[in-house]
Amino acid sequence: MTDVQRETALYIDGRWVPGGGADLEVVDPATEEVTGVITQASTDDVETAVAAARAAFPGWAATSVAERAAVLRRVRDVIAERAEVFAGLIQRELGAPPKVARALHVDTPVAVIDATIDALERFAFTSEIGNSLIRHEPVGVVAAITPWNLPLHQVVVKVIPALAAGATVVLKPAGLTPLAAFELARAFDSAGLPAGVFNLVPGSGRVVGDLLTRHPGVDQVSFTGSTPVGRQIAGVAAETLKRVTLELGGKSASVVLADADDELFAKAVKITVANCFLNGGQTCTALSRLIVPESRIAQAEELAAAAAAKYAPGARLGPLVSAEQRKEVESYLDPASGGSDAVTVYGGAELPERGYYVSPTVISRVDPDSRLAQEEVFGPVLAILAAGSDDEAVAIANNSIYGLGGAVWGADDDAALAVAARLQTGQVDVNGGAFNPGAPFGGFKQSGTGREIGAYGIADVCEIKAVQR
Ligand code: NAD
Repeated sequence: MTDVQRETALYIDGRWVPGGGADLEVVDPATEEVTGVITQASTDDVETAVAAARAAFPGWAATSVAERAAVLRRVRDVIAERAEVFAGLIQRELGAPPKVARALHVDTPVAVIDATIDALERFAFTSEIGNSLIRHEPVGVVAAITPWNLPLHQVVVKVIPALAAGATVVLKPAGLTPLAAFELARAFDSAGLPAGVFNLVPGSGRVVGDLLTRHPGVDQVSFTGSTPVGRQIAGVAAETLKRVTLELGGKSASVVLADADDELFAKAVKITVANCFLNGGQTCTALSRLIVPESRIAQAEELAAAAAAKYAPGARLGPLVSAEQRKEVESYLDPASGGSDAVTVYGGAELPERGYYVSPTVISRVDPDSRLAQEEVFGPVLAILAAGSDDEAVAIANNSIYGLGGAVWGADDDAALAVAARLQTGQVDVNGGAFNPGAPFGGFKQSGTGREIGAYGIADVCEIKAVQR
């Protein structure tokens, strides 16, 4: 165990204090070796952190927008200066390939911080309706509970808007990937964030996550993770009628309309494959269903297989986060998961000897009601589905309990935008529209409730008060 990152202290009330919980090993999914050891928070640590966040709240809520923007800008600068350190940690805990570790896992959250500071400086904390003064007031203490798939980004999209609003935060990062959160706590510390405004309590969901969700000293739970756990959290939070933001699973569709010419068709397939396989397929907005006109299914299969072949496991394609996750994903590699007519058009790539890798896989002629079309895989498995018409494509896309992301490809921009309006999802990219770090992010249906990032993320952690004069 050489070169093991050790984090034995928790960041509570502006100090590094020894954690009272059990140690937890962090495994590099690319090597299957222990790469870190952290000490988790005890329930006493959680109590101390919530008390610190409560005590810090009135002072932080009373700061000016300019003061909060200045601190957040310093945090942003520290993260940008230490980008390689963050990327290195995320490479270790998630097995992310170096380029992905930097661009997706560090540069994107930095862009989100920039956009959120910009939104803060424009945010209308007060406005007027007739004789009423409308005030947006920070909710109080926000408990942020985050998943393992984007160890820095998932934390940033919750914590930065909350701090921008004037709320204080207790963060419980994912047990599989907690290392980046410790580095973030150091960034807050060196940026001069006042004591108690941000607190870090790593630990299990069952103990630390559950205690935060039940705690009367927590005003809002902001959770990103799986839909079953989100449902459970909503139930527990209801006991104290806490406000809840839930960013949950997805089964996003990429819809290619009948009027797409060959060039656009090829671009649509290539970008859909890239999006589906990003981060080893472990993104909540993965375009995991490609819906194409029936008459062009063979063309889609050929293009998707060629694109998938470029994602060599161990090079461009990283591993899955854990052996359990790999087992889960492997259950979708049999084409029968896509129904009786489904066929594998790409799969069985050579895997490195070590690491939790699976082959990138493309399964076509998938039944829209099958397990593969309905369930979130969270791995590099693309389902291709055929639609008899654009209307049928929209119906297939909306045939899901989820409603997180989506894409539309069409020659006529207005027609493509009209289809985007019919998709029941929180995000839609038309003809390759890029991720916008200032746009609201969240889901329809069982993909969640509430919005993160930018002005909408700030509003999400505010109470609204009407004062009549
Ligand atoms: P998960 O639901 O297992 O865990 C998420 C977090 O919740 C972890 O920190 C975990 O410790 C904690 N937790 C678990 N049980 C808890 C409980 N009973 N009470 C309180 N906290 C608890 O999810 P995961 O496996 O870490 O992440 C993958 C999932 O996250 C996928 O379903 C994916 O779609 C989803 N996700 C959603 C988004 C989004 O923005 N919509 C983004 C990324 C990931």
